[in-house]
Amino acid sequence: MTRRAIVAANWKMNGDLALVNTMVSGLANVELQDNVNVVVCPSSPYLSELSAQVKTKQLSAAISIGAQNVSEHKQGAYTGEISTQMLQELSVKFVIIGHSERRSYYHESSTQIAHKVHTALTAGLTPILCIGESEAERAMEQTDTVLAAQLQPVIDEIGIEKFNDVVIAYEPVWAIGTGKTASSEMAQETHQFIRQFLAQADEDVAAKVPLLYGGSVNASNCEELFAQSDIDGGLIGGASLQVEQFKIICSAAKGK
Ligand code: PEP
Repeated sequence: MTRRAIVAANWKMNGDLALVNTMVSGLANVELQDNVNVVVCPSSPYLSELSAQVKTKQLSAAISIGAQNVSEHKQGAYTGEISTQMLQELSVKFVIIGHSERRSYYHESSTQIAHKVHTALTAGLTPILCIGESEAERAMEQTDTVLAAQLQPVIDEIGIEKFNDVVIAYEPVWAIGTGKTASSEMAQETHQFIRQFLAQADEDVAAKVPLLYGGSVNASNCEELFAQSDIDGGLIGGASLQVEQFKIICSAAKGK
């Protein structure tokens, strides 16, 4: 078994302290298959409480903590931003970077996203780098070109070797929060493209990078998606706000 599976909860701007409590209690007894990491990424005000609970209840083997964003700058006059050092102090291990909502609503470019990935890696955080095409881009058969254009600036900035410490989440924009999941065949085909694209730079690295699928994953479709040979788990939005459903999704993941 060479590749771990990861199931990451992206709460976005949802959730509250009560959800932190119920999620921690729920995940305390989740049954996981071999080689699976569960990552919970709440909104930043809840990172501290999540971190404290995971520590007090000695659950750091079961629950890793993730942030939803990080600044590309180390510190300074950047009102509203959060630094890698702040995240480290809260025992954060993962950070979602380049989510399509950040790319579209906050105009984060692939170059800025590459800087963020670099900053996160330098601080020892594992980036969950999100890439994905819009509905119109898929309709125009531009998916591969779009994904390559999102990945290349990151490869150029950090070098392919550093992808040993990166997780990639393929999230077709048209499937996020819409209930329209990519079929397992379509998701597998695109994941295979991403792995082959990375393999042009380094085959060994490409074979080991965990590739997560995101976009309306739920308790009913997770098993089929996770069974695909190049899908190593998921980035879960809406369904991660429901503890029992999220536990089912976590239990369906398996390292490959
Ligand atoms: C996401 O926001 O990363 C996501 C995949 O959302 P959802 O599962 O709700 O589609």
